[in-house]
Amino acid sequence: MSEVRNGATPARAGPRLLAGSPIAAEIRAGLTEDFARFNDRWGYAPTLAIVLVGADAPSAVYLRQILSTCEKVGVDGRLVEIGAEVTSEALCTEIERLSADPAVAGIIVQMPLPAHIPLRTVIDSIDPAKDIDGIHPRNAGLLSLGYEGFLPATAQASVEILKRSGIEIAGKRVVVVGRSNVVGKPAALLLIREHGTVTVLHSKTRDLAHHTRDAEILIVAAGRPGLVTGEMLSPGVVVVAVGINVVDDGNGGQKLVGDVDFESAKDVVAAITPVPGGVGPLTNALLLSHLLRAATDQAESGKRRAEAGTARAGVAR
Ligand code: NAD
Repeated sequence: MSEVRNGATPARAGPRLLAGSPIAAEIRAGLTEDFARFNDRWGYAPTLAIVLVGADAPSAVYLRQILSTCEKVGVDGRLVEIGAEVTSEALCTEIERLSADPAVAGIIVQMPLPAHIPLRTVIDSIDPAKDIDGIHPRNAGLLSLGYEGFLPATAQASVEILKRSGIEIAGKRVVVVGRSNVVGKPAALLLIREHGTVTVLHSKTRDLAHHTRDAEILIVAAGRPGLVTGEMLSPGVVVVAVGINVVDDGNGGQKLVGDVDFESAKDVVAAITPVPGGVGPLTNALLLSHLLRAATDQAESGKRRAEAGTARAGVAR
């Protein structure tokens, strides 16, 4: 029990910070060696193609980070910038071209897309074997059935940060704020896989605080700065703040803030991921581990195809 002198309440030490950066650094160190081995074996560095349609502030932050991670681990990061006025047909043709390019091992399409482009057609045009952020229906289906496909990296990172920080998920009341196909929904599926008792909240949920207060683990992926405040939390909750928002810093500049108001939350929570430096770095590291898997599968199946071709040619002779 803590000592209280003169009736004063002792200052709280502050919550445990679940930093993603050291975990990401460890994964990157392993990946750097793995990509070097890949290069030795196959004679090339695999390419990650990042398709960016138009300009978007949070995307720009994210892209800078992912391109710098590519450079650190020995991956050829290729930014494919396309004007916001592109037609959906032209965009799909470009993605099909990247899907057919043997140097490109993985493709990510930065969201959000301009409103005139139907997301479904774009998603369908990615080769599922190169869909390293798990947005294609094939990978989404594999996830929902509990089979191994490519997982959406941010959703995976939000669960992985808990697991690697030694936080037990099984049996806990886990509340996810956000139901997008890229973050909230896949995170909920992964948390069910980890045996959490999962509730999903979204923009039409009535009385958000009623549900967030019930959480033993809270994942917030809404993209709304400061949406969750300390008074919406129960003491001892573990919070994963996924949303990243670019806001004015009050001095004519901009700063990054999360969906959880850190100042009011820090005295209530047991542990919380920082923004930035939490889920973001881990997302990038996991994405590149997916790229390694995709590149290896493609190189090996290309070799098998070549061997089968040689064997057939031998028979024909
Ligand atoms: P999205 O806009 O597609 O989905 C937001 C979800 O939040 C929706 O399901 C919506 O119903 C819900 N929501 C919105 N307002 C709400 C409210 N007031 N109350 C309850 N629910 C509400 O966004 P997304 O692509 O899922 O991304 C979510 C956030 O995660 C964004 O801030 C994005 O920048 C961030 N993100 C972070 C990373 C990372 O690596 N850390 C990667 C991808 C996305």
